Amino acid sequence: MTFQDFNFDEQLLEGILSMGYNTPTPIQAQAIPVIMNGDDLIACAQTGTGKTASYLLPVMDYICKTHKHHTTTLVLAPTRELAQQIDQQVEGLAYFAGVSSQAVFGGGDGMAYEQQRRGIQNNVNLLIATPGRLIAHLTSGVLKLNNITHLVLDEADRMLDMGFHDDIMRIVSYLPKKRQTLLFSATMPQRIRKLANAILHKPQQINI
Ligand code: AMP
Repeated sequence: MTFQDFNFDEQLLEGILSMGYNTPTPIQAQAIPVIMNGDDLIACAQTGTGKTASYLLPVMDYICKTHKHHTTTLVLAPTRELAQQIDQQVEGLAYFAGVSSQAVFGGGDGMAYEQQRRGIQNNVNLLIATPGRLIAHLTSGVLKLNNITHLVLDEADRMLDMGFHDDIMRIVSYLPKKRQTLLFSATMPQRIRKLANAILHKPQQINI
């Protein structure tokens, strides 16, 4: 299988190849068709498997093909480091396609907060956020989530370990009910299944 097999937007495909990705990893080969088909997904996958691109690519393809100019994708991640890594991967993949993204995380100085606020106000295509800081922007009224069509929970088990359950549920309450939700987790304990039951709709399941 090659990346040409997915019929991605041509400029996105150029970005993929320029990153040096030639062959889809197993999680990518399995997850990309499910996500492009519009299904919810619960995926058990570790870091290092290519899980990030497995959701970024179909979501970015949707953004390219629908020519959306507002924020349609929200990725929630447990830490600032992971949010920044995901944002960097979007930047690399989007080099030719021009999909915009902004990482939103706590800590840092006032300037970082200002820059994040501007990114939010500029309606970037993809927001990649840690839950606590996202809530700060939501309650300040800067951030509207009513155009979100895709929600991704990355490293969901770590987010629960870090005590983000209630923040996640609160963020979800701001999102349209009709959306596609993708949950990635390295482990699948009962509390992840409960979370999935609460926010996913008839998900497909993949174990890597
Ligand atoms: P992840 O599991 O998402 O943290 O990805 C691990 C690393 O693999 C990252 O540095 C990605 O840039 C890289 N990667 C993702 N997909 C591919 C691929 N199909 N071919 C080569 N490298 C990849």
